Amino acid sequence: MRSTTCTGNNGKYLEEYHSESSALLAAEEIQEQYGNTLSPIHCRRCNYWHLVDHSTRKQCMFCTDRGLFLKDIYATKEEAQRTADWIRRSKKIQLSPYKCPYSHGWHLTKR
Ligand SMILES: [Zn+2]
Ligand SMILES: [Zn+2]
Repeated sequence: MRSTTCTGNNGKYLEEYHSESSALLAAEEIQEQYGNTLSPIHCRRCNYWHLVDHSTRKQCMFCTDRGLFLKDIYATKEEAQRTADWIRRSKKIQLSPYKCPYSHGWHLTKR
């Protein structure tokens, strides 16, 4: 269903989902069809769920992973944790947030 209260970065109204599981299902469909990685967020404004696109993610200029790619950086621990939860459910990989030693933000690491 199209939201009547919440808009995304592009000013368009967001799609809303009435449960996390239906948002997850939609995210998986979108990933299969378009290859976009989306994750559900619970919206405090309308109390439903929306999907956010990870292609808008930021990268840390200081840290690289083992493949020497720049690591994704998250502004808050909550945001990093939310992404970790999403990855755990969709890819069955357990990640935990840690504070970036060089920059303001959080990364995810395998334990
Ligand atoms: Zn909303
Ligand atoms: Zn970093």
